[in-house]
Amino acid sequence: MEEEQEAFEVCGLRFEVLQPLTTSNIEHQTSNMKLEIPYHLENYIGGNLIASLGGKFIDNINPATGEVYGQIPDSNEKDVTAGVHAAQKAFSAWSVTPVEERFRILNRIAELIDANLDELALAETNDNGKPLWLSKSVDIPRASANFRFFATGIMHFATESHNMEDKAVNYTLRQPIGIVGCISPWNLPLYLFTWKIAPAIAAGNCVLAKPSEVTPVTAFLLSKICKEAGLPDGVLNIIHGTGPNAGEAIVSHADVKAISFTGSTRAGERIAGIAAPKFKKLSLELGGKNPSIIFSDCDWNKMITETIRSSFSNQGEICLCASRVLVEESVYEKFKREFVEKTKQLAIGDPLNENTKQGAIVSKAHYEKILRCIEKAKQEGGKLLCGGNAVKLEGRCANGFFIQPTVIEGLGPECQTNQKEIFGPVVTLQSFKTEEEGLQLANATSYGLAATIWTQDISKANRVAAKVESGIIWVNCWLLRDLRTPFGGMKNSGVGKEGGWEALRFFTESKNVCIQL
Ligand code: NAD
Repeated sequence: MEEEQEAFEVCGLRFEVLQPLTTSNIEHQTSNMKLEIPYHLENYIGGNLIASLGGKFIDNINPATGEVYGQIPDSNEKDVTAGVHAAQKAFSAWSVTPVEERFRILNRIAELIDANLDELALAETNDNGKPLWLSKSVDIPRASANFRFFATGIMHFATESHNMEDKAVNYTLRQPIGIVGCISPWNLPLYLFTWKIAPAIAAGNCVLAKPSEVTPVTAFLLSKICKEAGLPDGVLNIIHGTGPNAGEAIVSHADVKAISFTGSTRAGERIAGIAAPKFKKLSLELGGKNPSIIFSDCDWNKMITETIRSSFSNQGEICLCASRVLVEESVYEKFKREFVEKTKQLAIGDPLNENTKQGAIVSKAHYEKILRCIEKAKQEGGKLLCGGNAVKLEGRCANGFFIQPTVIEGLGPECQTNQKEIFGPVVTLQSFKTEEEGLQLANATSYGLAATIWTQDISKANRVAAKVESGIIWVNCWLLRDLRTPFGGMKNSGVGKEGGWEALRFFTESKNVCIQL
Protein backbone atom coordinates (compact mmCIF):
# COMPACT_ATOMS: atom_id res chain seq x y z
CA MET A 1 0.00 0.00 0.00
CA GLU A 2 1.44 3.38 -0.96
CA GLU A 3 1.57 6.08 1.65
CA GLU A 4 -1.12 8.71 1.13
CA GLN A 5 0.03 12.31 1.52
CA GLU A 6 -2.44 14.80 2.97
CA ALA A 7 -0.33 17.83 2.20
CA PHE A 8 3.10 18.70 0.86
CA GLU A 9 5.27 21.76 0.59
CA VAL A 10 7.01 23.28 -2.43
CA CYS A 11 9.09 26.46 -2.04
CA GLY A 12 7.57 27.10 1.35
CA LEU A 13 4.04 26.84 -0.12
CA ARG A 14 1.75 24.29 1.43
CA PHE A 15 -0.49 22.23 -0.85
CA GLU A 16 -3.45 20.24 0.28
CA VAL A 17 -3.85 16.89 -1.49
CA LEU A 18 -7.57 16.59 -2.17
CA GLN A 19 -7.59 13.30 -3.94
CA PRO A 20 -4.38 11.37 -3.50
CA LEU A 21 -3.63 9.32 -6.58
CA THR A 22 -2.27 6.00 -5.43
CA THR A 23 -1.94 3.09 -7.77
CA SER A 24 -4.64 1.26 -5.86
CA ASN A 25 -7.40 3.87 -6.14
CA ILE A 26 -6.54 4.59 -9.76
CA GLU A 27 -6.71 0.91 -10.64
CA HIS A 28 -10.07 0.80 -8.97
CA GLN A 29 -11.30 3.73 -11.06
CA THR A 30 -10.04 2.57 -14.42
CA SER A 31 -10.81 -1.11 -13.96
CA ASN A 32 -14.42 -0.12 -13.29
CA MET A 33 -14.26 2.04 -16.43
CA LYS A 34 -15.43 4.99 -14.33
CA LEU A 35 -13.36 8.11 -14.57
CA GLU A 36 -15.31 10.09 -12.03
CA ILE A 37 -15.53 13.83 -12.41
CA PRO A 38 -15.74 15.73 -9.12
CA TYR A 39 -17.60 19.05 -8.96
CA HIS A 40 -14.34 20.84 -8.18
CA LEU A 41 -11.57 19.85 -10.58
CA GLU A 42 -8.02 19.94 -9.27
CA ASN A 43 -4.63 20.68 -10.70
CA TYR A 44 -2.30 17.74 -11.34
CA ILE A 45 1.10 18.59 -9.89
CA GLY A 46 3.90 16.18 -9.03
CA GLY A 47 1.55 13.22 -9.47
CA ASN A 48 -1.10 14.57 -7.08
CA LEU A 49 -4.49 16.16 -7.64
CA ILE A 50 -4.32 19.32 -5.57
CA ALA A 51 -6.41 22.41 -4.94
CA SER A 52 -5.27 25.69 -6.38
CA LEU A 53 -3.36 27.88 -3.93
CA GLY A 54 -5.48 30.97 -4.47
CA GLY A 55 -8.65 29.06 -3.56
CA LYS A 56 -10.50 30.67 -6.46
CA PHE A 57 -12.64 28.81 -8.96
CA ILE A 58 -14.19 29.35 -12.38
CA ASP A 59 -17.62 27.95 -13.28
CA ASN A 60 -17.69 25.17 -15.84
CA ILE A 61 -20.80 25.38 -18.01
CA ASN A 62 -22.42 22.81 -20.27
CA PRO A 63 -23.17 24.89 -23.39
CA ALA A 64 -25.99 22.60 -24.49
CA THR A 65 -27.97 23.24 -21.29
CA GLY A 66 -26.48 26.53 -20.09
CA GLU A 67 -26.03 24.98 -16.63
CA VAL A 68 -23.03 25.24 -14.34
CA TYR A 69 -22.02 21.66 -13.64
CA GLY A 70 -18.61 22.05 -12.06
CA GLN A 71 -15.84 24.40 -11.08
CA ILE A 72 -12.20 24.50 -12.06
CA PRO A 73 -9.20 26.05 -10.30
CA ASP A 74 -8.47 29.65 -11.22
CA SER A 75 -4.74 29.00 -10.87
CA ASN A 76 -2.06 31.66 -10.64
CA GLU A 77 1.73 31.96 -10.65
CA LYS A 78 2.03 30.12 -7.30
CA ASP A 79 0.42 27.02 -8.78
CA VAL A 80 2.68 27.36 -11.82
CA THR A 81 5.76 27.65 -9.57
CA ALA A 82 4.74 24.44 -7.82
CA GLY A 83 4.34 22.77 -11.22
CA VAL A 84 7.78 23.96 -12.30
CA HIS A 85 9.35 22.54 -9.15
CA ALA A 86 7.62 19.19 -9.67
CA ALA A 87 8.82 19.17 -13.29
CA GLN A 88 12.39 20.06 -12.29
CA LYS A 89 12.40 17.19 -9.82
CA ALA A 90 11.26 14.74 -12.49
CA PHE A 91 13.46 15.97 -15.34
CA SER A 92 16.82 14.44 -14.41
CA ALA A 93 15.39 10.91 -14.48
CA TRP A 94 12.87 11.34 -17.31
CA SER A 95 15.32 12.98 -19.70
CA VAL A 96 17.52 9.87 -19.61
CA THR A 97 14.75 7.28 -19.44
CA PRO A 98 15.36 4.88 -22.35
CA VAL A 99 13.11 5.48 -25.37
CA GLU A 100 11.80 1.91 -25.07
CA GLU A 101 10.41 2.80 -21.63
CA ARG A 102 8.96 6.10 -22.84
CA PHE A 103 7.37 4.18 -25.71
CA ARG A 104 5.85 1.68 -23.27
CA ILE A 105 4.31 4.37 -21.04
CA LEU A 106 2.95 6.51 -23.89
CA ASN A 107 1.51 3.44 -25.54
CA ARG A 108 -0.16 2.47 -22.27
CA ILE A 109 -1.69 5.96 -22.02
CA ALA A 110 -3.11 5.44 -25.53
CA GLU A 111 -4.60 2.09 -24.50
CA LEU A 112 -6.22 3.60 -21.42
CA ILE A 113 -7.71 6.44 -23.46
CA ASP A 114 -9.25 3.81 -25.75
CA ALA A 115 -10.49 1.80 -22.78
CA ASN A 116 -12.23 4.90 -21.40
CA LEU A 117 -13.59 6.12 -24.74
CA ASP A 118 -17.21 6.41 -23.60
CA GLU A 119 -16.51 8.42 -20.43
CA LEU A 120 -14.05 10.70 -22.19
CA ALA A 121 -16.35 11.30 -25.16
CA LEU A 122 -19.28 12.17 -22.89
CA ALA A 123 -17.09 14.54 -20.87
CA GLU A 124 -15.91 16.23 -24.08
CA THR A 125 -19.44 16.69 -25.36
CA ASN A 126 -20.74 18.04 -22.03
CA ASP A 127 -17.88 20.54 -21.92
CA ASN A 128 -17.84 21.61 -25.55
CA GLY A 129 -21.35 21.10 -26.96
CA LYS A 130 -20.17 18.99 -29.93
CA PRO A 131 -22.27 15.97 -30.95
CA LEU A 132 -21.42 12.89 -28.90
CA TRP A 133 -20.94 10.78 -32.05
CA LEU A 134 -18.23 13.25 -33.12
CA SER A 135 -16.42 13.07 -29.76
CA LYS A 136 -16.56 9.28 -29.98
CA SER A 137 -15.48 8.94 -33.59
CA VAL A 138 -12.96 11.80 -33.90
CA ASP A 139 -11.84 13.62 -30.75
CA ILE A 140 -11.06 10.79 -28.35
CA PRO A 141 -9.70 8.30 -30.94
CA ARG A 142 -7.37 11.05 -32.17
CA ALA A 143 -6.15 11.68 -28.60
CA SER A 144 -5.06 8.05 -28.26
CA ALA A 145 -3.64 8.14 -31.80
CA ASN A 146 -1.46 11.11 -30.79
CA PHE A 147 0.11 9.16 -27.92
CA ARG A 148 0.53 6.02 -30.03
CA PHE A 149 2.04 7.99 -32.90
CA PHE A 150 4.68 9.76 -30.80
CA ALA A 151 5.35 6.61 -28.73
CA THR A 152 6.51 4.90 -31.92
CA GLY A 153 7.93 8.14 -33.35
CA ILE A 154 10.48 8.52 -30.58
CA MET A 155 11.73 4.97 -31.24
CA HIS A 156 12.58 6.00 -34.82
CA PHE A 157 13.80 9.54 -34.23
CA ALA A 158 17.31 9.76 -35.67
CA THR A 159 19.80 12.58 -35.94
CA GLU A 160 22.09 13.65 -38.78
CA SER A 161 25.79 13.17 -39.32
CA HIS A 162 27.92 15.31 -41.68
CA ASN A 163 31.21 13.94 -42.84
CA MET A 164 34.00 16.38 -43.89
CA GLU A 165 35.95 13.83 -45.91
CA ASP A 166 39.23 13.11 -44.15
CA LYS A 167 39.06 16.22 -41.91
CA ALA A 168 36.26 15.73 -39.41
CA VAL A 169 32.89 14.24 -38.69
CA ASN A 170 29.94 16.16 -37.28
CA TYR A 171 27.02 14.60 -35.57
CA THR A 172 23.91 16.24 -34.19
CA LEU A 173 22.61 15.57 -30.72
CA ARG A 174 18.93 16.28 -30.12
CA GLN A 175 18.41 16.56 -26.41
CA PRO A 176 15.30 17.31 -24.36
CA ILE A 177 14.88 21.04 -23.72
CA GLY A 178 13.87 20.78 -20.06
CA ILE A 179 10.54 22.17 -18.91
CA VAL A 180 8.13 23.15 -21.66
CA GLY A 181 4.69 24.79 -21.66
CA CYS A 182 1.77 23.45 -23.71
CA ILE A 183 -1.34 25.62 -23.98
CA SER A 184 -4.40 24.53 -25.95
CA PRO A 185 -7.85 25.82 -26.99
CA TRP A 186 -11.45 24.64 -26.47
CA ASN A 187 -12.48 23.52 -29.95
CA LEU A 188 -10.81 20.08 -30.02
CA PRO A 189 -9.95 19.86 -26.33
CA LEU A 190 -8.27 16.50 -25.67
CA TYR A 191 -7.29 16.08 -29.34
CA LEU A 192 -5.12 19.24 -29.37
CA PHE A 193 -3.97 18.99 -25.74
CA THR A 194 -2.46 15.55 -26.41
CA TRP A 195 -1.09 16.64 -29.81
CA LYS A 196 1.34 18.83 -27.84
CA ILE A 197 1.91 16.79 -24.68
CA ALA A 198 2.66 13.49 -26.43
CA PRO A 199 5.70 14.70 -28.46
CA ALA A 200 6.92 16.86 -25.57
CA ILE A 201 7.15 13.98 -23.11
CA ALA A 202 8.19 11.44 -25.76
CA ALA A 203 11.22 13.67 -26.42
CA GLY A 204 12.17 13.55 -22.73
CA ASN A 205 10.84 16.90 -21.52
CA CYS A 206 8.73 17.62 -18.46
CA VAL A 207 5.58 19.56 -19.18
CA LEU A 208 3.41 22.28 -17.71
CA ALA A 209 0.18 22.02 -19.63
CA LYS A 210 -2.88 24.24 -19.56
CA PRO A 211 -6.12 23.20 -21.25
CA SER A 212 -8.72 25.81 -22.10
CA GLU A 213 -10.65 26.99 -19.05
CA VAL A 214 -13.78 26.52 -21.19
CA THR A 215 -13.25 22.76 -21.71
CA PRO A 216 -11.08 21.44 -18.86
CA VAL A 217 -12.61 18.06 -17.98
CA THR A 218 -10.91 15.63 -20.37
CA ALA A 219 -7.51 17.13 -19.43
CA PHE A 220 -8.39 16.49 -15.80
CA LEU A 221 -9.31 12.87 -16.63
CA LEU A 222 -6.07 12.49 -18.55
CA SER A 223 -4.15 13.13 -15.32
CA LYS A 224 -5.71 10.00 -13.81
CA ILE A 225 -4.94 8.01 -16.95
CA CYS A 226 -1.29 9.13 -16.94
CA LYS A 227 -0.92 8.05 -13.33
CA GLU A 228 -2.45 4.66 -14.07
CA ALA A 229 -0.16 4.25 -17.08
CA GLY A 230 2.90 4.71 -14.87
CA LEU A 231 4.03 8.12 -16.12
CA PRO A 232 6.46 9.23 -13.40
CA ASP A 233 5.23 11.99 -11.09
CA GLY A 234 6.08 15.49 -12.28
CA VAL A 235 6.65 14.58 -15.95
CA LEU A 236 3.24 16.02 -16.80
CA ASN A 237 1.73 18.78 -14.67
CA ILE A 238 -1.70 20.11 -15.59
CA ILE A 239 -2.58 23.59 -14.41
CA HIS A 240 -6.15 24.78 -14.91
CA GLY A 241 -7.20 28.39 -15.21
CA THR A 242 -7.50 31.41 -17.47
CA GLY A 243 -5.08 32.67 -20.10
CA PRO A 244 -4.19 35.92 -18.32
CA ASN A 245 -3.59 34.18 -14.95
CA ALA A 246 -2.38 30.61 -15.37
CA GLY A 247 -1.42 30.85 -19.06
CA GLU A 248 0.76 33.95 -18.77
CA ALA A 249 2.38 32.59 -15.59
CA ILE A 250 3.51 29.54 -17.61
CA VAL A 251 4.71 31.66 -20.53
CA SER A 252 6.58 34.10 -18.24
CA HIS A 253 8.28 31.59 -15.96
CA ALA A 254 12.04 31.76 -16.42
CA ASP A 255 12.47 27.98 -16.18
CA VAL A 256 9.92 27.18 -18.89
CA LYS A 257 12.16 27.09 -21.96
CA ALA A 258 9.69 26.52 -24.80
CA ILE A 259 6.03 27.25 -25.44
CA SER A 260 3.77 25.35 -27.78
CA PHE A 261 0.54 27.32 -28.12
CA THR A 262 -2.62 26.74 -30.12
CA GLY A 263 -5.33 29.39 -30.00
CA SER A 264 -6.30 32.79 -31.29
CA THR A 265 -3.97 35.10 -33.18
CA ARG A 266 -4.62 37.79 -30.54
CA ALA A 267 -3.43 35.56 -27.66
CA GLY A 268 -0.53 34.33 -29.83
CA GLU A 269 0.62 37.91 -30.29
CA ARG A 270 0.51 38.51 -26.54
CA ILE A 271 2.40 35.27 -25.82
CA ALA A 272 5.07 36.09 -28.42
CA GLY A 273 5.43 39.53 -26.78
CA ILE A 274 6.21 37.92 -23.44
CA ALA A 275 8.28 34.95 -24.61
CA ALA A 276 10.32 36.39 -27.49
CA PRO A 277 12.43 38.84 -25.40
CA LYS A 278 13.27 35.91 -23.10
CA PHE A 279 14.42 33.91 -26.18
CA LYS A 280 12.12 30.99 -25.53
CA LYS A 281 11.43 28.53 -28.31
CA LEU A 282 7.95 29.24 -29.68
CA SER A 283 5.48 27.28 -31.76
CA LEU A 284 2.29 29.25 -32.45
CA GLU A 285 -0.70 27.61 -34.15
CA LEU A 286 -3.20 30.42 -34.59
CA GLY A 287 -6.44 31.45 -36.29
CA GLY A 288 -7.53 31.19 -39.90
CA LYS A 289 -9.95 32.44 -42.55
CA ASN A 290 -9.63 29.50 -44.86
CA PRO A 291 -10.72 29.46 -48.51
CA SER A 292 -12.31 26.58 -50.34
CA ILE A 293 -11.63 27.14 -54.08
CA ILE A 294 -14.15 25.35 -56.25
CA PHE A 295 -13.56 24.97 -60.00
CA SER A 296 -16.30 23.91 -62.41
CA ASP A 297 -14.44 20.73 -63.42
CA CYS A 298 -14.51 19.15 -59.94
CA ASP A 299 -16.14 15.90 -58.87
CA TRP A 300 -19.40 17.69 -58.08
CA ASN A 301 -21.18 15.38 -55.63
CA LYS A 302 -18.07 14.70 -53.61
CA MET A 303 -17.28 18.43 -53.53
CA ILE A 304 -20.78 19.36 -52.26
CA THR A 305 -20.72 16.72 -49.50
CA GLU A 306 -17.22 17.67 -48.36
CA THR A 307 -17.89 21.42 -48.54
CA ILE A 308 -20.82 20.98 -46.16
CA ARG A 309 -18.43 19.11 -43.85
CA SER A 310 -15.61 21.66 -44.20
CA SER A 311 -18.03 24.52 -43.53
CA PHE A 312 -20.03 23.23 -40.57
CA SER A 313 -18.25 20.32 -38.84
CA ASN A 314 -18.07 20.90 -35.09
CA GLN A 315 -20.37 23.95 -35.61
CA GLY A 316 -17.64 25.50 -37.77
CA GLU A 317 -15.39 25.57 -34.70
CA ILE A 318 -12.38 23.89 -36.31
CA CYS A 319 -9.43 26.08 -37.20
CA LEU A 320 -9.28 24.23 -40.55
CA CYS A 321 -12.92 24.83 -41.52
CA ALA A 322 -13.32 26.73 -44.78
CA SER A 323 -15.22 29.91 -44.00
CA ARG A 324 -14.79 31.58 -47.44
CA VAL A 325 -16.24 29.47 -50.23
CA LEU A 326 -14.96 30.69 -53.62
CA VAL A 327 -16.84 29.28 -56.62
CA GLU A 328 -16.11 29.56 -60.35
CA GLU A 329 -18.74 31.84 -61.86
CA SER A 330 -20.09 29.34 -64.41
CA VAL A 331 -21.28 27.00 -61.61
CA TYR A 332 -21.97 29.59 -58.90
CA GLU A 333 -25.80 29.53 -59.10
CA LYS A 334 -25.94 25.72 -59.24
CA PHE A 335 -23.56 25.50 -56.26
CA LYS A 336 -25.51 28.07 -54.27
CA ARG A 337 -28.83 26.22 -54.80
CA GLU A 338 -27.51 22.80 -53.79
CA PHE A 339 -25.27 24.01 -50.98
CA VAL A 340 -28.01 26.08 -49.31
CA GLU A 341 -30.52 23.24 -49.64
CA LYS A 342 -28.10 20.81 -47.93
CA THR A 343 -27.18 23.33 -45.25
CA LYS A 344 -30.85 23.74 -44.32
CA GLN A 345 -31.08 19.98 -43.77
CA LEU A 346 -28.40 19.91 -41.05
CA ALA A 347 -30.20 18.88 -37.86
CA ILE A 348 -29.54 21.21 -34.93
CA GLY A 349 -30.15 19.57 -31.58
CA ASP A 350 -29.12 18.00 -28.32
CA PRO A 351 -25.50 16.86 -28.72
CA LEU A 352 -26.40 13.59 -27.01
CA ASN A 353 -28.86 12.74 -29.80
CA GLU A 354 -27.20 10.59 -32.44
CA ASN A 355 -29.07 12.34 -35.28
CA THR A 356 -27.75 15.77 -34.34
CA LYS A 357 -25.43 17.26 -36.93
CA GLN A 358 -25.04 20.69 -35.28
CA GLY A 359 -24.55 20.79 -31.50
CA ALA A 360 -24.15 23.78 -29.19
CA ILE A 361 -21.75 26.69 -29.57
CA VAL A 362 -19.03 26.32 -26.93
CA SER A 363 -19.95 29.23 -24.63
CA LYS A 364 -22.38 32.11 -24.18
CA ALA A 365 -19.61 34.61 -24.94
CA HIS A 366 -18.71 32.87 -28.20
CA TYR A 367 -22.38 32.44 -29.16
CA GLU A 368 -22.93 36.19 -28.69
CA LYS A 369 -19.79 36.95 -30.71
CA ILE A 370 -21.01 34.83 -33.64
CA LEU A 371 -24.43 36.51 -33.58
CA ARG A 372 -22.72 39.93 -33.59
CA CYS A 373 -20.64 38.85 -36.61
CA ILE A 374 -23.83 37.86 -38.46
CA GLU A 375 -25.34 41.28 -37.66
CA LYS A 376 -22.17 42.93 -38.94
CA ALA A 377 -22.39 40.92 -42.18
CA LYS A 378 -25.92 42.24 -42.69
CA GLN A 379 -24.78 45.83 -42.02
CA GLU A 380 -22.01 45.34 -44.56
CA GLY A 381 -24.63 44.48 -47.18
CA GLY A 382 -24.42 40.70 -47.01
CA LYS A 383 -27.49 38.71 -48.06
CA LEU A 384 -28.42 35.75 -45.83
CA LEU A 385 -29.17 32.72 -48.02
CA CYS A 386 -30.05 30.61 -44.98
CA GLY A 387 -29.65 30.64 -41.20
CA GLY A 388 -28.57 33.75 -39.35
CA ASN A 389 -30.51 33.17 -36.14
CA ALA A 390 -30.15 31.70 -32.69
CA VAL A 391 -32.13 28.50 -32.15
CA LYS A 392 -34.31 27.82 -29.12
CA LEU A 393 -34.63 24.10 -28.35
CA GLU A 394 -37.13 22.40 -26.09
CA GLY A 395 -36.53 20.42 -22.89
CA ARG A 396 -33.03 19.71 -21.54
CA CYS A 397 -31.41 22.13 -24.02
CA ALA A 398 -33.89 25.02 -23.63
CA ASN A 399 -31.15 27.32 -22.27
CA GLY A 400 -28.36 26.09 -24.55
CA PHE A 401 -26.38 28.13 -27.08
CA PHE A 402 -27.43 27.05 -30.58
CA ILE A 403 -27.09 28.89 -33.90
CA GLN A 404 -28.40 27.97 -37.35
CA PRO A 405 -25.73 27.17 -39.95
CA THR A 406 -25.52 30.36 -41.96
CA VAL A 407 -24.63 31.09 -45.60
CA ILE A 408 -24.03 34.67 -46.75
CA GLU A 409 -23.43 36.10 -50.24
CA GLY A 410 -22.86 39.51 -51.76
CA LEU A 411 -19.81 40.60 -49.77
CA GLY A 412 -16.46 41.59 -51.26
CA PRO A 413 -13.07 40.38 -50.03
CA GLU A 414 -12.23 43.55 -48.08
CA CYS A 415 -15.15 43.61 -45.66
CA GLN A 416 -14.79 42.58 -42.03
CA THR A 417 -16.90 39.45 -42.54
CA ASN A 418 -14.37 38.16 -45.08
CA GLN A 419 -11.33 39.34 -43.12
CA LYS A 420 -11.94 38.46 -39.45
CA GLU A 421 -12.15 34.95 -38.08
CA ILE A 422 -15.71 34.15 -36.89
CA PHE A 423 -15.04 30.53 -35.83
CA GLY A 424 -18.65 29.43 -36.01
CA PRO A 425 -21.22 27.96 -38.42
CA VAL A 426 -21.01 30.92 -40.81
CA VAL A 427 -19.65 30.90 -44.37
CA THR A 428 -19.63 33.42 -47.19
CA LEU A 429 -19.86 32.68 -50.92
CA GLN A 430 -17.91 34.65 -53.55
CA SER A 431 -17.55 33.94 -57.24
CA PHE A 432 -14.50 34.20 -59.51
CA LYS A 433 -14.07 34.16 -63.30
CA THR A 434 -10.46 33.00 -63.77
CA GLU A 435 -7.90 30.92 -61.93
CA GLU A 436 -5.95 34.12 -61.25
CA GLU A 437 -8.97 35.83 -59.72
CA GLY A 438 -9.71 32.76 -57.57
CA LEU A 439 -6.14 32.86 -56.27
CA GLN A 440 -6.34 36.57 -55.51
CA LEU A 441 -9.50 36.04 -53.48
CA ALA A 442 -7.96 33.04 -51.68
CA ASN A 443 -4.92 35.08 -50.65
CA ALA A 444 -6.84 38.26 -49.75
CA THR A 445 -6.60 37.90 -45.96
CA SER A 446 -3.87 38.25 -43.36
CA TYR A 447 -4.28 34.55 -42.46
CA GLY A 448 -2.70 31.51 -44.08
CA LEU A 449 -3.72 28.33 -42.31
CA ALA A 450 -5.52 25.92 -44.65
CA ALA A 451 -7.03 25.89 -48.15
CA THR A 452 -9.06 23.38 -50.14
CA ILE A 453 -8.92 23.11 -53.93
CA TRP A 454 -11.60 21.31 -55.96
CA THR A 455 -10.68 20.41 -59.55
CA GLN A 456 -10.05 17.27 -61.58
CA ASP A 457 -7.29 19.01 -63.54
CA ILE A 458 -4.14 17.91 -61.76
CA SER A 459 -1.95 20.57 -63.39
CA LYS A 460 -4.31 23.29 -62.23
CA ALA A 461 -4.39 21.77 -58.74
CA ASN A 462 -0.59 21.83 -58.56
CA ARG A 463 -0.37 25.38 -59.90
CA VAL A 464 -2.92 26.73 -57.45
CA ALA A 465 -1.49 24.75 -54.51
CA ALA A 466 1.93 26.28 -55.13
CA LYS A 467 0.51 29.82 -55.11
CA VAL A 468 -2.02 29.68 -52.27
CA GLU A 469 -0.57 31.25 -49.14
CA SER A 470 -1.48 28.47 -46.71
CA GLY A 471 0.48 26.03 -44.61
CA ILE A 472 -1.95 23.19 -45.31
CA ILE A 473 -3.60 22.49 -48.67
CA TRP A 474 -6.11 19.78 -49.46
CA VAL A 475 -6.93 18.85 -53.05
CA ASN A 476 -10.31 17.15 -53.57
CA CYS A 477 -10.61 16.34 -49.88
CA TRP A 478 -10.72 18.04 -46.49
CA LEU A 479 -9.22 17.22 -43.11
CA LEU A 480 -7.52 14.09 -44.37
CA ARG A 481 -4.70 13.92 -41.85
CA ASP A 482 -1.44 12.00 -41.88
CA LEU A 483 0.22 12.69 -38.52
CA ARG A 484 3.68 12.54 -40.12
CA THR A 485 3.11 15.67 -42.21
CA PRO A 486 4.09 19.21 -41.12
CA PHE A 487 1.08 20.96 -39.64
CA GLY A 488 0.70 24.71 -39.17
CA GLY A 489 0.04 28.03 -40.80
CA MET A 490 1.83 30.95 -42.38
CA LYS A 491 1.18 34.74 -42.20
CA ASN A 492 -0.98 35.56 -39.13
CA SER A 493 -1.89 31.89 -38.70
CA GLY A 494 1.30 31.18 -36.85
CA VAL A 495 4.97 30.29 -36.81
CA GLY A 496 6.54 26.87 -36.52
CA LYS A 497 5.09 23.53 -37.48
CA GLU A 498 3.78 20.59 -35.50
CA GLY A 499 3.40 16.95 -36.48
CA GLY A 500 5.88 14.14 -37.17
CA TRP A 501 9.57 14.99 -36.98
CA GLU A 502 8.72 18.72 -36.84
CA ALA A 503 7.22 18.27 -33.37
CA LEU A 504 10.09 16.12 -32.10
CA ARG A 505 12.59 18.64 -33.47
CA PHE A 506 10.69 21.50 -31.80
CA PHE A 507 10.74 19.74 -28.45
CA THR A 508 14.49 19.01 -28.59
CA GLU A 509 17.55 21.23 -28.59
CA SER A 510 19.99 20.42 -31.35
CA LYS A 511 23.71 20.48 -30.65
CA ASN A 512 26.44 19.87 -33.22
CA VAL A 513 29.49 17.89 -32.19
CA CYS A 514 32.49 18.24 -34.54
CA ILE A 515 35.32 15.73 -34.13
CA GLN A 516 38.53 16.29 -36.03
CA LEU A 517 39.82 13.09 -37.48
P1 NAD B 1 -7.67 31.59 -27.06
O1 NAD B 1 -6.48 32.20 -27.71
O2 NAD B 1 -8.63 32.48 -26.38
O3 NAD B 1 -7.19 30.54 -25.95
C1 NAD B 1 -6.40 29.41 -26.26
C2 NAD B 1 -5.67 28.97 -25.00
O4 NAD B 1 -4.75 29.99 -24.63
C3 NAD B 1 -6.57 28.79 -23.79
O5 NAD B 1 -6.06 27.76 -23.00
C4 NAD B 1 -6.44 30.13 -23.07
O6 NAD B 1 -6.71 30.06 -21.69
C5 NAD B 1 -4.98 30.45 -23.33
N1 NAD B 1 -4.64 31.86 -23.33
C6 NAD B 1 -5.41 32.91 -23.72
N2 NAD B 1 -4.73 34.06 -23.56
C7 NAD B 1 -3.50 33.72 -23.09
C8 NAD B 1 -2.36 34.47 -22.70
N3 NAD B 1 -2.34 35.79 -22.77
N4 NAD B 1 -1.28 33.80 -22.24
C9 NAD B 1 -1.29 32.45 -22.17
N5 NAD B 1 -2.35 31.71 -22.48
C10 NAD B 1 -3.44 32.33 -22.95
O7 NAD B 1 -8.35 30.69 -28.17
P2 NAD B 1 -9.71 29.86 -28.03
O8 NAD B 1 -10.84 30.83 -28.07
O9 NAD B 1 -9.59 28.90 -26.90
O10 NAD B 1 -9.67 28.98 -29.36
C11 NAD B 1 -10.11 29.43 -30.60
C12 NAD B 1 -8.95 29.91 -31.45
O11 NAD B 1 -7.98 28.88 -31.59
C13 NAD B 1 -9.37 30.27 -32.86
O12 NAD B 1 -8.72 31.45 -33.23
C14 NAD B 1 -8.86 29.10 -33.70
O13 NAD B 1 -8.60 29.38 -35.05
C15 NAD B 1 -7.61 28.77 -32.97
N6 NAD B 1 -7.18 27.41 -33.26
C16 NAD B 1 -6.07 27.24 -34.06
C17 NAD B 1 -5.65 25.95 -34.38
C18 NAD B 1 -4.44 25.72 -35.25
O14 NAD B 1 -3.96 24.59 -35.32
N7 NAD B 1 -3.92 26.73 -35.93
C19 NAD B 1 -6.35 24.85 -33.89
C20 NAD B 1 -7.46 25.07 -33.09
C21 NAD B 1 -7.88 26.35 -32.77
